[in-house]
Amino acid sequence: MSEVKNILRKAEESVEISPAEALILMKLTGKNFARLQQVADQICIEKKNNIVTFVVNRNINFTNICYQGCKFCSFSVSNKNKESFLKTIEDIREDIIEAKNAECTEVCIQGGINPELDFDYYVEILKTVKEIDSNIHSHAFSPQEVFHMAKLYGTSIKNVLKELKKAGLDSMPGTAAEILVENIRRVICPNKITTSQWIDVIKSAHELGIPTTSTMMYGHIEDLQDRIEHIEVIRNIQKETSGFTEFVPLPFVSENPLLSKLTEFPLKPSYGMADLKLFSVARIFFNNYIDNIQCSWVKLGPKFAQVSLNYGVNDFSGTLMEENISKSAGAEFGEYLTPDEMISIIKAAGKRPVQRDTLYKLLKFY
Ligand code: SF4
Repeated sequence: MSEVKNILRKAEESVEISPAEALILMKLTGKNFARLQQVADQICIEKKNNIVTFVVNRNINFTNICYQGCKFCSFSVSNKNKESFLKTIEDIREDIIEAKNAECTEVCIQGGINPELDFDYYVEILKTVKEIDSNIHSHAFSPQEVFHMAKLYGTSIKNVLKELKKAGLDSMPGTAAEILVENIRRVICPNKITTSQWIDVIKSAHELGIPTTSTMMYGHIEDLQDRIEHIEVIRNIQKETSGFTEFVPLPFVSENPLLSKLTEFPLKPSYGMADLKLFSVARIFFNNYIDNIQCSWVKLGPKFAQVSLNYGVNDFSGTLMEENISKSAGAEFGEYLTPDEMISIIKAAGKRPVQRDTLYKLLKFY
């Protein structure tokens, strides 16, 4: 039996595949690529009952002032920039009320690392969500933001998380992960938390009963081996904590960022087939560990996101309402898909649309 057949047979039998085997799958073409798709889709259909979920949510980006200088980011500006903004708690209150009126079950709250903010501001945001509607799920603050809060206010990561949880934090986005490989991070985000700091924040959150998502930004200067190293880090954490709700591959949007102009580190863009292989391999690699693989329609575009639903992806992410981060980087797709649009897209992919909450409780079948 050929090596590829053997790996795919393991996948079909729910036997864990190794990072080296995942790397082989990431390189498939032709008939083997088609076979990879079939296996990933079949596992997904069986595991999720042919259901593709989405969440009705609203993003709230409270400030774009940030001095971290990540080279892939076009969202952040200095406080002198005329496009800079910092929302007051009253502005955020209005956003949350708008989310409630649109029947959002979740608000996703993230912002730049703005040194003008004190800890009370973050706490106040969370309290405001619960004051308006205690049923709205607060999905808030990246590991980078939590690390920043701990450093700035001279306390431990765990203390920060405990305070945030007390104020109403329900779960966290596993963003700021980018690629969890140090030599890549040193180029693309030299001032950001390291891999081990990211792991520390995530594990601390999981230990305190705060679930998180897991993400990977790919298609910039990393190679396939780096992607494999990244997903291995994620799987190893999940084996210990079971705290990840989903894995979200996020393609690098290259229209504006500085990273596109670094001649010494040329971009290695990810084209369609590489994206599809990544989704399929993620489904197989995380099988029995992370049940949900999410596509980002904002970055992929609704058409390609729909295609991904046949390559191991079972979640179409959220309606969003406000999306500044990808838009600043040059993503051309809108800020909002209505639930009806999502339902049509999912149905046309031959899948069954279901609205879910943040923690994947199924809410409404269509
Ligand atoms: S990615 Fe986040 S931390 Fe990095 S510069 Fe942009 S806003 Fe700041």
